[in-house]
Amino acid sequence: MLVVMQHDATAKDVDRVVSIIKEMGYEARPMPGAQRTAVGLVGNDGRVDASRLEALPGVAQIIHVTQPYKQVSREWRAENTVVTLAPGVTVGGDAVVVIGGPCSVESEEQILSAARIVKAAGGNALRGGAFKPRSSPYSFQGLGKKGLSLLARAGKETGLPIVTEAMDSDGAQMVAEVAACIQIGARNMQNYSLLKTVGKMKTPVLLKRGMAATINDLLLSAEYILAEGNENIILCERGVRSFDPAARNMLDLTAIPIVHRLSHLPIIADPSHGTGLRDKVIPMARAAVAAGADGVLIEVHPEPDRALSDGAQSLYPDQFTQLVGELRAVAAAIGRSIPPAKSGTAQL
Ligand code: PEP
Ligand code: MN
Repeated sequence: MLVVMQHDATAKDVDRVVSIIKEMGYEARPMPGAQRTAVGLVGNDGRVDASRLEALPGVAQIIHVTQPYKQVSREWRAENTVVTLAPGVTVGGDAVVVIGGPCSVESEEQILSAARIVKAAGGNALRGGAFKPRSSPYSFQGLGKKGLSLLARAGKETGLPIVTEAMDSDGAQMVAEVAACIQIGARNMQNYSLLKTVGKMKTPVLLKRGMAATINDLLLSAEYILAEGNENIILCERGVRSFDPAARNMLDLTAIPIVHRLSHLPIIADPSHGTGLRDKVIPMARAAVAAGADGVLIEVHPEPDRALSDGAQSLYPDQFTQLVGELRAVAAAIGRSIPPAKSGTAQL
């Protein structure tokens, strides 16, 4: 439930609402806005009797949030959430961010080379998995902690913020030491203890849609993170399982305008896992930006034919460079832009 204050409500009025909510046994979350302050009431499972709050001085309106997810909903917060990955790299505003890099961190040479490619092409952040959730236990599982330190080096050299996956709570703490954003992969979208752990942290979280998850499931998983206090959430559409084996997954671009309508959280698209095939990644990345995605996550590898994971969907460096240029044009056509690359030390 949301208690919307009048424009001229005083700090004392807001404090009174907060203390009555607490007296009623709930948690109060004051949210100062550009127009007026609202106070969120959380901790209720069902409808709350609002009559006590409605009558308080300075209260304009009580909104009962109708969605099962509360703090994630547009009813709760009308303005878009803007998540900052680094100075000048924000997700959810006018900008469209390009997050590029290999599926896995494989070696120092590979990740440094990938980082330079992403930087030179005008990408805004570097991805690469150190902890890899693989379908087979016999597949490459990632370099673990060593991979994180290699990512840190690549980030330092290029100035690109790092996005990398954590598979469990211990991993989340380690990832947060080097990453600007903790990725929660599709397989862990409903790992509620992991969601609670990252919810207690301040580091931005990239939450990928589960391969058989509805949009409602995705938003409820985001609510777990927000409910613990971390508001820095970026959602990611990465394709869902379908009946058709023609592509690895079916990239659900409809999710982008649907999520924008239902939630204030930003949503990006991952056409790499969404299609699984290099030549399909390019048109679907363009389509994702045209559909209003707040960013794209693209796998690119210095030598995709030698990649230890997801080589078939990883772009060749020149394809990635060309794609970023095309995405700039698509973004411009809808009044958005890809943040300009900042000067750094990277050279190709
Ligand atoms: C990845 O980003 O490399 C990954 C494993 O993605 P997903 O969780 O979407 O399969
Ligand atoms: Mn991958």
